[in-house]
Amino acid sequence: MANSYDVIVIGAGPAGYVAAIRASQLGMSVACIDEFRRKGSEPALGGTCLNVGCIPSKALLDSSEQYHKVTDELAGHGINVSGVDLDVSKMIARKDKVVADLTGGIQQLFKANKIEWLQGHGKLLSDRRVEFSPHKGKKQTLEAGSVILATGSKPIEIGAAPTDGERVLTSDGALEMTEVPKRLGVIGAGVIGLEMGSVWNRLGSKVVLLEAQEEFLAPVDHQVSRDAKRQFEKQGLDIRLNCRVTETRQGKTVSVHYEDKDGSQNIQVDKLIVAVGRRPNTEELAHEDVDLLTDERGFVHVNDHCETNIPGVYAVGDVVRGPMLAHKGSEEGVMVAERIAGKPGHVNYEAIPWVIYTDPEIAWVGRTEKQLKNAGTPFRSGTFGFAANGRARAMDKTAGMVKILSHAETDRVLGVHICGSQASELIAECVVAMEFAASAEDLARTIHAHPTLSESVHEAALAVDKRAIHKAN
Ligand code: FAD
Ligand code: AMP
Repeated sequence: MANSYDVIVIGAGPAGYVAAIRASQLGMSVACIDEFRRKGSEPALGGTCLNVGCIPSKALLDSSEQYHKVTDELAGHGINVSGVDLDVSKMIARKDKVVADLTGGIQQLFKANKIEWLQGHGKLLSDRRVEFSPHKGKKQTLEAGSVILATGSKPIEIGAAPTDGERVLTSDGALEMTEVPKRLGVIGAGVIGLEMGSVWNRLGSKVVLLEAQEEFLAPVDHQVSRDAKRQFEKQGLDIRLNCRVTETRQGKTVSVHYEDKDGSQNIQVDKLIVAVGRRPNTEELAHEDVDLLTDERGFVHVNDHCETNIPGVYAVGDVVRGPMLAHKGSEEGVMVAERIAGKPGHVNYEAIPWVIYTDPEIAWVGRTEKQLKNAGTPFRSGTFGFAANGRARAMDKTAGMVKILSHAETDRVLGVHICGSQASELIAECVVAMEFAASAEDLARTIHAHPTLSESVHEAALAVDKRAIHKAN
């Protein structure tokens, strides 16, 4: 191990490991310090995303979808299946293998790019020095031309529902349950709460989600969130809004006390998942002599180019402002590596796609109708439902719609909101459109293959100008 590098990255999640690879591609010597240990023992690259976030949650969403298909959907196709047996331990083991394969893949990429993986804790010192405390061995002081902080985030805990890793769980624990709880409570009906609630609902739990806000999925376009809520409730998710959890008591079950508009309420559940958001990992990140500026919520303060207040020190991903999304962190990592190399790196924060991997999926990019109204921006809106889409009908996936918002004068696409099957894939076309400053007319004049779900994007673009073909405008 050297003690001086061009770049030291602290954190090997999708923000940090991508920054490390890009810096190495640009000819720099790179070390990446990461303290994560899978299930408390084995060091693993990939951070939250690969180990306890995006990937394991999608693996379980996929497994539970397969199960739901067999138990609830195949009969409609004339396929009768009997003797269906659920082996949750095997499902979890499959998820673990997906994770292990992918984190192993990052390790290979580090080797190929000659990036030094330092297993342990990193702490920023003055003058672009970093204190490295390995899992095994003595502390060392390393020097760098530039330091990139990419330490990510962890679940927020609330006093009313302390987690114990047994009955009251964070999202980490929700990905490890080996039995289907009869009754599952989820505090927080946000992205993670809905995804975890969907997994266990499909596998047979009776799921109740308690959400503090009055509005369901507040950041999502209202028309889309209303549509999605209806679909989730049809599937059996019990979503209770305006609920403030005040206390939990544990015995053989968990007693969850909460207040809603009618007063004090109580539910009994076998497991409780606390999914009320995440907070940045900034404890023990900088030595007390280092004046690293953070904001009131603990995020490292950065400008549009992810420069902190300390020259030569950058911060990217969940530890800084902006959406807590893996791809946002990765793009920031690429931008910072390129700027360190003297290139013009840039992130377009206006065109970051968001996805919720429920059924139907919810995906969006750009502005909501409410945001446009509040900003006084004149806009036109075009919608098209999947119920009128041939492919969606053939797939029995008729729930949801596409909504396109474009500027009333220039027709430039300002936002696209999709609720429906494969919304996560459909949104990519819309992100490209926004990156290229496309108009709704551009999308309307682009040929979309038939029969595909993407024809609903095409029709929604036509509907902006009230000329959709397969609906009355
Ligand atoms: P992280 O992935 O959190 O990585 C930070 C790494 O730094 C960790 O390994 C940590 O151990 C290490 N570290 C922290 N402090 C130190 C230190 N001082 N020294 C050394 N190492 C340190 N996002 C999506 O885009 N799509 C999804 O589908 C999605 N699903 C999710 C599902 C769940 C259940 C969860 C919890 C999150 C999900 N996310 C999703 C969010 C996504 O995981 C995060 O946005 C992303 O991981 C952030 O990347 P990051 O590199 O900034 O930080
Ligand atoms: P997300 O940020 O998408 O992970 O969503 C977290 C959700 O949890 C948000 O919708 C919050 O409104 C909700 N939330 C936060 N604190 C509480 C709480 N104490 N009780 C219920 N819901 C909460």
